[in-house]
Amino acid sequence: MKILSGISAVAGVVIGKALLLPEDDYREIPRYTISPGEVTGELERFVPAVQEAAAELRNLKESAGDMNSEQGKIFEAHLLMLEDPDFHYQIKARLESKYENIEWIVFEVARDLSQKLLQSDDAYLRERAADVADVSRRIINCLRGINRISLKNLEEDVILVARNLLPSDALGMDKKRVKALVMDMGSRVSHTAILVRSFGIPSVIGLSSAVREISNGDTLIVDGEAGKVILDPDRAVLKQYETKYRQDEKNRANRRHLAEELSALQDLPAETSDGRRVVLKANIEIAEEAAELGRYGAEGIGLYRSEFLFLQNGQASEEQQLEAYSRVVKALEGRPVTIRTVDLGGDKLLPGMQAVKEENPLLGWRAIRFSLSLPDLFMTQLRAILRSSAEGTVKIMFPMISGIEELEMALALLEEAKKECRRKGQPFDEEIKVGTMIEMPAAVVTADILAERSDFFSIGTNDLIQYTLAVDRGNEKVSYLAQATHPAVIRFIKQVIDSAHARGIPAAMCGELAGDSAVAPLLLGMGLDEFSMTAQSIPRIKELIRSLDFASCKILAEESLTLSSCKEIQALVNRWLKERFLRPVTSDFIAGDTVEPSDENA
Ligand code: PEP
Ligand code: MG
Repeated sequence: MKILSGISAVAGVVIGKALLLPEDDYREIPRYTISPGEVTGELERFVPAVQEAAAELRNLKESAGDMNSEQGKIFEAHLLMLEDPDFHYQIKARLESKYENIEWIVFEVARDLSQKLLQSDDAYLRERAADVADVSRRIINCLRGINRISLKNLEEDVILVARNLLPSDALGMDKKRVKALVMDMGSRVSHTAILVRSFGIPSVIGLSSAVREISNGDTLIVDGEAGKVILDPDRAVLKQYETKYRQDEKNRANRRHLAEELSALQDLPAETSDGRRVVLKANIEIAEEAAELGRYGAEGIGLYRSEFLFLQNGQASEEQQLEAYSRVVKALEGRPVTIRTVDLGGDKLLPGMQAVKEENPLLGWRAIRFSLSLPDLFMTQLRAILRSSAEGTVKIMFPMISGIEELEMALALLEEAKKECRRKGQPFDEEIKVGTMIEMPAAVVTADILAERSDFFSIGTNDLIQYTLAVDRGNEKVSYLAQATHPAVIRFIKQVIDSAHARGIPAAMCGELAGDSAVAPLLLGMGLDEFSMTAQSIPRIKELIRSLDFASCKILAEESLTLSSCKEIQALVNRWLKERFLRPVTSDFIAGDTVEPSDENA
């Protein structure tokens, strides 16, 4: 028996068998130099790998059935690419000039080709970048003896164990069969963690050594609440956890019951006892989630992460985007929908982008930078969003704005997109509101300037904390440093809210912090106007807000802004909460995780 400790991402106890996701990460591709005499040997490895990849593709093509189906055509195109003499020529030429191992040569040739294609003005050619990446990944996997398993249709219940499950993999996996997730990388606010939370799959992440320690078929206990994974449990522990599992089932039923109780709040305003009214909205990743929001009392969507549409399909045409956005807008029946333009890059890569290796992806080609560098793609999205605004209330929001120039470039392209829609007679909301996400220190410090050109702000605390404290949100080794109660973070939040209010625009928050009960009084006291979060958290936050008075939240905020350390601020918040609440307040951001009720109140 072995106990592995990580970060609790989604609570719940699961006992089951491990399914290890084989590593096919590009960052893991071996790279070494070879001697001129070894060139022939490397080419001799390349040829059977290509044959094996071709056999795999032929099988896939056959199982797609109809040769004229989209899938059939894709596999056919991949087969043609595998046999392309120019591709083979480039591999051979580079091998003979660089003297490096064949896996690395295939990776580099494919990366250069993908980069060229991605920069093309022609949408068809840009789409081919994804195919080049896919084909090269298949060859490299064959060279390394890795058989990528499909997570789409699993035959039995599993606990998925991965070094780093990509958001696109999480999106496409068989959610009925994946009972729990165990992952070596990631923090509570990594995109994969956000996704599995919305799926309700118990998860422990940031384990560092799970892939090394666990083998396929091993019996595992995942304790999502404690952030523990128990490998090969002994009989006593298994028995103890079987009881905990049954208890957890009861807890789930209780949570459902609590949710039902809280849904009685659905139509009541999020208003404090002394009349401060705020707005509670939901964050969504995929259009299908929109239909569910009403029962949680969401007053709109504060963040629609539109990039997931692309991650799901590899690409999305203007019409496909319009269809998805309109579906969301119609489901909201007049309540506002804030569509964020794609935040691709970082840990959210399209297949074509996986081949574009960056040393620091989180400081690299991401979000608005990605969109501005591919104006055709950006304009297509802007037109689709504008057109969906004819169906209801839509707002646009730009991610990762670093300064006024970037914002003005995005706004200029939006004006272009509006002109195109007018020319084509496509109706849209001429008064559409445009917001700026505040996610990095540069945006905070220039918030007064950005406010001049923004209709609203939305604070993305997942990134703001990452960039303020220089803590990679996907790196488990430093996740303990990602403290929302760091004085720098709370002062920044206050500064953004004040800059918005000085210009008469609302300040929203759509990072995970907005749904944290323990921090809500502080945010409320600082003057935040809108909280956008996972829909399931809305009733809890609403109940809390309705039990608070704004005047004392303001005093709490003022006092915490005078303190010098996370510890002092957390102690103040803990004390403040203990004095007021009967029901324990759970928190991902305040140390101690659970704030126990005080003795007098209990
Ligand atoms: C954030 O950074 O807080 C945010 C909401 O955006 P994302 O999590 O998608 O980066
Ligand atoms: Mg962000």
